[in-house]
This record gives sequence, C-alpha cells and structure tokens, in this order.
Amino acid sequence: MTLFIIFGIDSKTKAKPVGHHHCPACQAERTFTELRRSRWFSLFFIPIIPLGSSSLGRVQCTTCGSEYNEEAVT
Ligand SMILES: [Zn+2]
Repeated sequence: MTLFIIFGIDSKTKAKPVGHHHCPACQAERTFTELRRSRWFSLFFIPIIPLGSSSLGRVQCTTCGSEYNEEAVT
C-alpha cells in the first residue's frame, strides 16, 4: 500500500477596499481595492494554515478593472 500525502504552499490574491480615487481609465472618481497576496499551507489542495499576506503595491479600479501602482492614484 502506498500512502500519498500532498502538501504545499498556495497563494491567493485578495482585494481589500481602500477608498475612492480618480481612475485615469474611467476619467472619474471610483472605488479602488488594494491587491494583497496571502499564502496558505495546504494539505491535499485544501488551504489549512494562513502564513500571512503581503501587499503587492497594486490597486485596482472596481468599475473597469484597471490596475495601477499604489503611488499612481493615491
Ligand atoms: Zn476605472
């Protein structure tokens, strides 16, 4: 009998609302979210233990989906 244990590190991208900024693509005030990457220890492809998250330094317009560097819109 062979027992397989599959584990690894997953990373997921989460969006956190950061407020309203002028979006160059929409030419209007829009809600932006900050893109964060969270890492999880996973077993059998199921995320079990959160390993923390880090900022990607990117923000995204929730209306048109355009991404910008954080400094560009704040
Ligand atoms: Zn936009």
